[in-house]
Amino acid sequence: MGEDGGRKRGGGSDAKGRLAGLRRLMKGAGLDGLMVTCMENVRYLTGFTGSAGSVVVAPRRAYFLTDGRYTTQAREQVNGYTVRQYKAPLKDVAELVSSLSITRLGIEAEHISQASYRAFRGAVKVHTVRSTGGLVEELRMVKDGGEIDALRGAAGLVEKSLEDVMGSIRPGTTEWEVAVELEHRFKLSGSEKNSFDFIVASGKRGALPHGIATDKKVRKGEMVTIDCGGRWKGYYSDCTRTCVVGKPTGRQREIYQIVLEAQQKAIEAVRPGVKVEDVDAAAREHISAQAYGKYYTHSTGHGVGLSVHEEPRVAQGNTHRLMQGMVITVEPGIYIPDWGGVRIEDMVLVARQGAEVLTEGVTKDFLIV
Ligand code: ZN
Ligand code: ZN
Repeated sequence: MGEDGGRKRGGGSDAKGRLAGLRRLMKGAGLDGLMVTCMENVRYLTGFTGSAGSVVVAPRRAYFLTDGRYTTQAREQVNGYTVRQYKAPLKDVAELVSSLSITRLGIEAEHISQASYRAFRGAVKVHTVRSTGGLVEELRMVKDGGEIDALRGAAGLVEKSLEDVMGSIRPGTTEWEVAVELEHRFKLSGSEKNSFDFIVASGKRGALPHGIATDKKVRKGEMVTIDCGGRWKGYYSDCTRTCVVGKPTGRQREIYQIVLEAQQKAIEAVRPGVKVEDVDAAAREHISAQAYGKYYTHSTGHGVGLSVHEEPRVAQGNTHRLMQGMVITVEPGIYIPDWGGVRIEDMVLVARQGAEVLTEGVTKDFLIV
């Protein structure tokens, strides 16, 4: 990473390389200008870690604009961009764009409100303004060494917390207590932020793929599915395990084993060049072959990075191919209404030889607590 030695760089980002990559994608999309307003994209491009700012990419120059609270921080973190302070964000960005030799400007339509768009369109003097989605997101799919290190750090937060907390569950512990204990451990381990409200779904609630923790008490014989993650240097982790309180029944063992095998098959399918949908199919076909296909109700995974859920979506119909450096989750599950469910989720790096599981430090044995 260190070709420019001691120069201070936000988040270790390779601003120059990323900007060059973005310009290639802009050209392919017929754009000679781009306004970036999604903060994860802004951070990715510039290294800026604050919460307000915009990037304007023009044919020969690139600008970063933020308000007065952040100009000092921006001058420290942002390299390769001309830093400007704005007072009225939309109006000032529109004014800057109008002064540049941009004819076809892309904007991130998903990250700007209708009202803001109308105000911006009225103020900007550019021949064409086009909604674009996914340009920076496409670059973000493939992680560089610094990003992979951050993701390893984020995965480490789970490794330090999840197994211990599962081991502490007793009959009578509430889902909420489990979630709070996990959050506490994450924070002590240095997590900047929870990835999302942690899912702790016990007993029949395990049939809800997104059952966030409630005040329900865990009872003996119930399975508990826990889905959690933290943030490390801006990058998120996301990991799920299912354990059982007391001796499992035959059916609980059977379903756990099917999900585990499905997950292993999907992980084995991961390597550069493979269609993303084939990773989904590897898990889905195994679950379907055991006659539980109708209980597998979501896609197999998603990219993870500066956002918890990002491209590529590991789903049926996604014919994009995996590339070395992508980091995806592999998280099949079986959810049976009025009975419960099992999900097992790992973060997987697409390495040259195949999959490298970043969360492998968290056991996948059917943990009996
Ligand atoms: Zn998850
Ligand atoms: Zn996930």
